[in-house]
Amino acid sequence: MPYPTLMSPITLGPLTLKNRVVMGSMHTGLEEGHDPAPLAAFYAERAAGGVGLIVTGGIAPNPHGAVYAGAAGLFSDKDITFHRSVTDAVHQSGGRIAMQILHAGRYAYSPGCVAPSPIKSPISPFAPRELTGDEVNAELNDFVTSALRARQAGYDGVEVMGSEGYFLNQFLVTHTNKRGDEWGGDYAGRMRAPVQAVARIRAALGPDFLIIYRISLIDLIPNGSTWDEVLHLARAIKKAGANVLNTGIGWHEARVPTIATSVPRGAFVHLAAKLKAAQILPVIATNRINTPDLAEDILARGDADLISMARPFLADSAFVAKAAAGQAAQIAPCIACNQACLDHTFSGKSATCLVNPRAGRELSLRYDPAATLKRITIVGGGAAGMMAAIVAATRGHSVTLYEAAGALGGQLNLAKQVPGKEEFLGLVAWFTAEVARLGVVVNLNVRADLNDLIGADEVIIATGTAPRALAIDGADSALTYADVLRGAPVGPRVAVIGAGAIGFDVAEYLVTGAHSPSLDLAHWQREWGVGDPAVQAGGLSTPQPDAPARQVTLMQRKAGKLGRRLGKTTGWIHRAQLEAKGVEMLASVAYRAITKKGVLIAQNGLERLIEVDSVVICAGQISQRDLADQAIAAGLRVHIIGGADVAAELDAKRAIAQGAELAAAI
Ligand code: NAP
Ligand code: SF4
Repeated sequence: MPYPTLMSPITLGPLTLKNRVVMGSMHTGLEEGHDPAPLAAFYAERAAGGVGLIVTGGIAPNPHGAVYAGAAGLFSDKDITFHRSVTDAVHQSGGRIAMQILHAGRYAYSPGCVAPSPIKSPISPFAPRELTGDEVNAELNDFVTSALRARQAGYDGVEVMGSEGYFLNQFLVTHTNKRGDEWGGDYAGRMRAPVQAVARIRAALGPDFLIIYRISLIDLIPNGSTWDEVLHLARAIKKAGANVLNTGIGWHEARVPTIATSVPRGAFVHLAAKLKAAQILPVIATNRINTPDLAEDILARGDADLISMARPFLADSAFVAKAAAGQAAQIAPCIACNQACLDHTFSGKSATCLVNPRAGRELSLRYDPAATLKRITIVGGGAAGMMAAIVAATRGHSVTLYEAAGALGGQLNLAKQVPGKEEFLGLVAWFTAEVARLGVVVNLNVRADLNDLIGADEVIIATGTAPRALAIDGADSALTYADVLRGAPVGPRVAVIGAGAIGFDVAEYLVTGAHSPSLDLAHWQREWGVGDPAVQAGGLSTPQPDAPARQVTLMQRKAGKLGRRLGKTTGWIHRAQLEAKGVEMLASVAYRAITKKGVLIAQNGLERLIEVDSVVICAGQISQRDLADQAIAAGLRVHIIGGADVAAELDAKRAIAQGAELAAAI
C-alpha cells in the first residue's frame, strides 16, 4: 500500500477515521448561499475522493462573531436544515465532517465587533468593543449552542478555532488582552476563555462528540505566546475535553508569510513535532504541505499524527484516492498561489482554484463524456491550451496539440524560474504528464500553420502573447522579461520598466542570489525573522535579508504605490521582499529614452537619468493571433482562448478556466 502511515486509520476519542488526512478549514463563499446543494456537492466530491475528515469553513457562533456581516453561522433552525444537507451528502459519500466554530473577535469586519480589549487590529478599520465579564461568559455559551446545533445538523464533531489571531487567541496574549478581571491578567486568566469554550462544549455534549482545538503554535506577532504557554494551554485544553490538537501558524496580521507559495514546504512542521513530543494529545500538522510524499514523511518520522491540507483539496478532490491507488503523479498540485481561493474570498467572490476551475462549481462545470466525439486541434501548449486538451480528452474527444517550443508550458515555464515560484515546476510537470496520459497527440517544435488545422471539427487557438515593445528611443537595446527569465545575462545595476506582476517577479529574480530561500528553510527563516517561540515570544526575531544580488530600480507610469494590483493576499509579500532588498520603486514615471548609460525618465516634471547596465521591459503583452485570423478566414470552427484572446492582464487563472470551460462545452 503506498503511503502506509498516511493511509492508516486513527481513532480520535469517539471517532475512527479511515486515514490520517484532514481537509482543513477553508471558507468557500458557498456557505452564505440560500441553496445548500453547491456546498454539499463540493464537500461530497472530496469525501468520495477519500479524505479521512473534512473540517468546514468557519461558522460563526453569533452574528457579531462572524468574519463579516452576513457571513455564515448556525443561528436558526433554517441554518440547521442547510447544514444537514451538507452532512448528509458527505456521509452518503463515505466521509466524516466536523464543523469549525469561528468567532472572529476583533477580526470581524464590522463596526459591531467585540474583543477582550478595545484594541484595533492593524488589518481592520474597526476598533472592537471591550466585552464585560458577563458578556465573555455569554460569548462562550454561544460556542456551546453552536456545537449543539452542529450535532443536530449531523456533524461528526466541531473544531474550536483558537488560532490565527481570532477571538479565543485574542485572550491569550497581552498584545490584545489588557484585562484585569478573571479573563485576563496572568496566563491562567488569559487562557480561561479558550479553555472554558472547550470545557463547556464537552460538558454540554458528553463524551461522544469529537472536539478538535486549533492551537496557535507560533503567533508571529509582538508579545505573542511563548512555547511554555503553548504547552500549558495544550494541557489545559486536553483536561477540558478536546480529543485532538489541530495547529495554527501566525496571526492574520503577522507580517511573515505562512502559506504563500514562497514559504518553504513543511516550514512549520518542526513546531507540530515539538508539540507531539510533549505527548499531550494527537497533533495535526498544517501549512504548506501539498504532496502525499511530504505528508507521509512527516507522519513516518513521528512528527504528527494527522496531516491537514486545505487548498490541495481545491486543486484535486481525489487527492487521497489517487495517492492510495499509487497514482500520486496524477494529483493536480496546489501551487499555493492563493489567486483563485483566498484572493477570491477576500474580494467577496466564491473560492475556486487556479489549477482546478471546477472547485466550488461541481454542479455547473462538468467534464461529462461528450455526446458527439470530435477531432479537436489545439494550437499552443501553454496553460490555456493544455487545460483545454486535458478536459477535451477526458470527455473522449481526439485531441491534437501543437506547440512551437520544445516543451509544453508556455508562460508557466517563465514563472517557474522566479525564486519562490518553484511550485510551478510541479504544475508544468503535471500538465505535461496528464496531456500524455490522456492520449493527446502532442507535436512539439512545430509552429502550426493553416494546413495543420484543416480537417479538425473544432480548432482552439491558444497561441498566447508576446511581450509588448516600447515606442521610445533605444527600446530595441533593452531586454524583455522573457529574455531575462530564459537566462540572458544581466548587469549589476538594472532598471525594470513596468511594475505589474511580471515586473515584480523579474525584480525578485534579479535581486535574489543563486539560492532561493524557498528551498532552504533556515535561509527563509533568517530572511523573514522567523524565530523559535521557546526563545522569542511569538517566534519573531529580527529579519536578516541577504544583500541584493543586483541594484534594481522598478518603475511604472501610474501614480501611487507600486504593486497595488498584485494579489490581495500576496501583494504585501512581494512588496516587502523587494523593499528588504533595497529595490527603488518609482511611480508617475514618463520614459524618455533608453541610452547606453541607462533610462532617461521624467518624474513630476524633473528629468533624471537612471544609470544602469541593463534595462528590462515588463510592460505587458500583446495577443498573438495571426493564425486565428487565417483560420477564421478559411471558414474553420475557431475558438480563441487565453492570452491570444485577451492579453490585458492575462493570467494563468483566467487562461486555465477559459480552456476548461470551452472544452467542457464542445
Ligand atoms: P500587468 O500586470 O498588466 O503590468 C504591466 C505593466 O506595464 C504595468 O506596470 C503597466 O503600468 C506597464 N505598462 C503597460 N503598458 C505600458 C507601456 N505602453 N509602456 C510602459 N509601461 C507600460 O502585466 P504583466 O506584469 O505583464 O503581467 C501579466 C499578467 O501575468 C498579470 O496580470 C498577472 O495576472 C499574470 N501574472 C501573475 C503573477 C502572479 O503571481 N499572480 C505573476 C506574474 C504574472 P503603467 O501603465 O503604470 O506603466
Ligand atoms: Fe492552491 Fe492556487 Fe488553487 Fe488556491 S488557487 S487552491 S493556492 S493552486
